[in-house]
Amino acid sequence: MTLHASRMEKFIFSCPTTDLLVQLWLNDNEEEGRRENRYEPISCPACVRLHFLNRKSGKLLGHDCDAPVNRS
Ligand SMILES: [Zn+2]
Repeated sequence: MTLHASRMEKFIFSCPTTDLLVQLWLNDNEEEGRRENRYEPISCPACVRLHFLNRKSGKLLGHDCDAPVNRS
């Protein structure tokens, strides 16, 4: 019997809305190489909204080096 269970990958990111650290387990069932620059919609348990997570870099879409949005 071979271990063929789907691999789970752990991702930790800081939610841009709540500033909380969020830990997620994502199913890693994609071919290697296809995940480059691909953003995965994930529902954030902290703010219950969707974020887009780059699986390769672990970064959130649009929150790399952005200036704060709140400019009032
Ligand atoms: Zn969030």
